[in-house]
Order: sequence, then structure tokens, then C-alpha cells
Amino acid sequence: MTDPVAARPSEVRGGSVRRGRPGVLLLGGTGEARELAAALVADGVDVVSSLAGRLADPRLPDGDVRVGGFGGVEGLAAWLREHRPGAVVDATHPFAAGMTANAARACTATGTRLLRLQRPGWTAGPGDDWRWADSLADAAGMVHGTVFLTTGRQGVGAFAGLPGRVLVRCVDPPTDPLPAGAVLLLARGPFTVDDELALMREHAVDVVVTKDSGGHMTAAKLVAARELGIPVVLVRRPPIPDGVLVVASVQEALACL
Ligand code: NAP
Repeated sequence: MTDPVAARPSEVRGGSVRRGRPGVLLLGGTGEARELAAALVADGVDVVSSLAGRLADPRLPDGDVRVGGFGGVEGLAAWLREHRPGAVVDATHPFAAGMTANAARACTATGTRLLRLQRPGWTAGPGDDWRWADSLADAAGMVHGTVFLTTGRQGVGAFAGLPGRVLVRCVDPPTDPLPAGAVLLLARGPFTVDDELALMREHAVDVVVTKDSGGHMTAAKLVAARELGIPVVLVRRPPIPDGVLVVASVQEALACL
């Protein structure tokens, strides 16, 4: 595991860059990205994982790590020209649409192979009461009563005008303005169904709001909402740029690489 204390923005640490070109630039910030980094490093591949630097205390992947934005498409293209990785794997969160768009454009511009690793979205089952929203603002217009907001710290401002109680759960405190009746819960998943049931009962939650992040790490709230008969508002995912090769699992990504 790399030493987090030594990490500074835009710095690559460890052996791969000194030795020459990294095999894979892994755009991360997700559990899948950490899993893939661990598997590649175990296979002897030189990996540089890139983190945006949003969290104060991120979970660091195996292998080398750089932290901070590249400086748009041009910055990423310059990084790719300098370091010449064999491939870029964009394993960012399904809602990190800006980074995904930049990766597609920079890889096209530099002729770098690009793979998008994106977990499947969630699918409603019997007993689920799900309502789809096109954006966070759209979701804010669909809810009332005591709202359990689990969309992360970015974009919380879209809910600032809600009049009722809003449980805002995120890893680090949001910088956006919060609703007047906000209760801030700082916590990092995964959460168990029992935890989610207890929380929703304690706060008498009327509706859950989430992004369609997919995956098992944060799915317990959906099970708890179903058990309690509570509706869930899900924000739809942004589209993936045309022409990008997409895989849905770490195993598929390893097979492609
Ligand atoms: P975003 O809106 O798509 O990206 C905005 C800018 O942040 C990018 O243009 C890039 O800056 C920088 N950036 C984003 N991901 C980066 C990465 N992995 N390495 C280096 N720079 C990165 O991204 P976001 O939604 O703010 O998400 C930021 C990070 O948090 C992502 O790595 C994502 O995987 C993770 N995350 C996001 C969410 C979510 O709901 N959005 C949830 C969980 C985790 P430059 O243009 O300067 O290169």
C-alpha cells in the first residue's frame, strides 16, 4: 500500500515512472478501481492510479498513485504523451461524467487504448417503489417529508430549498449550502441492511434519494427502503461517450487488458 502522507497533487510516486512507462493509467475513486489495481499489481503490471483528491482521507489503491486533476483534456493528453501508458482504464464513478468525457477525448487525441469499467446500474425488484429523476434538481422537486439524501457531497445544493428534515449522508462535509432542516451524517459505506433499517426508522424517513450508482457497497438502503415500504428516487446515470469500449466487471477488464 502506498504511503498516503507523501501524496501531493499531480505527483507520481513509486517505481513505475522512474523505470519508464506505466502499463496502465487507472482513473479511480471507486471500489472497482481499487480491486483492479490490486489484481494488476499482483500480475506484475505497472499501474498508476489517479484520484481526483476530493476526499480528505481516501482509501488508497495498490501500486503508484497520483492525486489531483490533470487540467482538462489537454492536461490529460500531455500526461499520456509524457508517460505513454499501454492503456487507460476509466474506472471512475458512473456519475463522474466530466472525467469520463475527458478520458475519451484525450485517448482519441493521443491514440491511447481506453477501456471504461462501469458497474451495472441497479434494477428494481418486486416490492420496490422506485421513481426516476433526470438530475439532482429534478429529484429535489420530487420529494417531501423527511428525506434521506445519499447522493454524495457534490450537488447537495440542489436540495438546499427543501423545507423539511433532510438527512444528508456523505463521507466528508459538503461545501454546498444545506437545507434549513439538514441533519448531517458523516459516514463511509458499506452499510448493512440492519444499519439502514435502524437509521431510517430512527429518523422516520419518508423517502430515499440516491444516484443510480449500482454495486453492492451502497445497495443496503434500497433493501431497507423496500422492507419499510419507502419510495426511492433514483437519479439516472449520464451517458458514456460514443465509441468507448465498456466492461462491467473487474474480471472483464482484466480479460480485456
Ligand atoms: P467529474 O465531475 O467527472 O470530474 C471533474 C474533474 O475532476 C475532472 O475534469 C478532473 O479534473 C478531476 N477528476 C475527476 N476524477 C479524477 C481522477 N480519477 N483523477 C484525476 N482527476 C480527476 O468527477 P467527480 O464526479 O467530481 O468525481 C471525482 C472523483 O470521485 C472521481 O474519481 C470519481 O470516481 C469519484 N466519485 C465520484 C462520485 C460521484 O457521484 N460523482 C461518487 C463516488 C466517487 P481535470 O479536468 O483537471 O483533469
